[in-house]
Amino acid sequence: MTESSIIPVFDGHNDALLRLRRGGPNAAEAFLNGEAAGHIDLPRARRGGLAGGLCAIFIPSPDQPKAENADFATPGQPDALNETLAMARLLFAIEAQSGGAVKVCCSASDIKRSIAEGQFAAVFHIEGAEAVAADLDALYVLHQAGLRSLGPVWSRSNVFAHGVPFRFPSTPDIGPGLTDAGKDLIRACNELKVMIDLSHMNEQGFWDIAKLSNAPLVASHSNAHALSPHSRNLTDKQLDAIRDTGGLVGINFGVLFLRDDGVRNADTPLELLVRHVAYIAERIGIDHVALGSDFDGTTIPQSLGDAGGLPKLIDAMRAHGFDDRSVAKIAHQNWIRVLEQTWGG
Ligand SMILES: [Zn+2]
Repeated sequence: MTESSIIPVFDGHNDALLRLRRGGPNAAEAFLNGEAAGHIDLPRARRGGLAGGLCAIFIPSPDQPKAENADFATPGQPDALNETLAMARLLFAIEAQSGGAVKVCCSASDIKRSIAEGQFAAVFHIEGAEAVAADLDALYVLHQAGLRSLGPVWSRSNVFAHGVPFRFPSTPDIGPGLTDAGKDLIRACNELKVMIDLSHMNEQGFWDIAKLSNAPLVASHSNAHALSPHSRNLTDKQLDAIRDTGGLVGINFGVLFLRDDGVRNADTPLELLVRHVAYIAERIGIDHVALGSDFDGTTIPQSLGDAGGLPKLIDAMRAHGFDDRSVAKIAHQNWIRVLEQTWGG
């Protein structure tokens, strides 16, 4: 074991709940006891130093298209709400059955305490607000149930905004921004102190939120467009806006968003991931770059493998020249600072 294996990583995005939900009835046990599938379970999180992160509830599109660049259909609101409740129940079942090993965290102090005590610090996050109707009733109730972070859209349109479709090479400037209901959603998230996630917004939606929101701007799992010209990545101007509000970018491990050729090839060196970290750190400062793995949601470099491989990424950051102080900021401190600022004490 190298020393780096003990660095706790707080991660901006995983889709473990979706993978587990698809896996069948013993989903909580599968997470807690570990299984070979996917990228995250509790034993592998412990092995890799994955201390916690934003656990996304994402409702797949009905009739998911096979083509890489196809447009996605939007699930209906009642179906999305039902499925959201089922996945939230799974998250709470994992916590309840964990014997204290997993905690659903609602504050930055919860996260700090959980990390100090070796508990997996999960944050209840929704990726794509299809479960919420324009009246926002479900938002208020889900917040009471522990929801602390929300991406208004995934890469498709809903009543609030138009997500950025998957295009390569492409600018993120595709389609219109927030609807009137979307503006109400942003105001309500500010009022409730729910973090607003800009990953999957198109560029107009990004700027609409930048203008309206009073919280630090956060893209939980997106990369530098200058290095990988994917529509999901952030332009230099967007990066600068994130810096100006004290926000952050969580680097996505997905090879589609790392590479400059747009190819889904798992044989992608970790050094390329570190180059995105370094680019963003150089452009907007070390305080504004963090991690957003997209574990269980996309194809990641095979040399990392799964959550158990995180120490290899820490080693690659050190090899690139990041010192211990910088590594700690990237690995967890920046996320905790931004969440504390967004949620209040
Ligand atoms: Zn995503």
